[in-house]
Amino acid sequence: MSKAKPVTVPAAYLPWFEEQMAKQAAAQALSPLAGLPDRIKDMHRCHGATEGKTCGGCAHLLTKRMGGTYFKCGQSRMTDGPGTDFRKKWPACGLFVERGEDE
Ligand code: SF4
Repeated sequence: MSKAKPVTVPAAYLPWFEEQMAKQAAAQALSPLAGLPDRIKDMHRCHGATEGKTCGGCAHLLTKRMGGTYFKCGQSRMTDGPGTDFRKKWPACGLFVERGEDE
């Protein structure tokens, strides 16, 4: 595996570079996706977001009961492992479909 090359910033640009890095870090910290795993970030990257909704209210969220209760997104890759589990509280992506009352 190759290592990423270190970035060399000319001294004259260092204050600007540090300011840009701080802005980027602040924007990421404010994101509703901050700290969440790549699988939900990828859904938002590909499909956008649905404001004010969470996966818990989405018809695509499937419930699996196998010695516990697990949630999987029917629009995302699924395995039997925890690496594809979704959480009800995660911010909904653009594929959100309101769950019917009988579901
Ligand atoms: S909102 Fe629905 S489609 Fe989007 S990630 Fe959540 S469960 Fe999947």
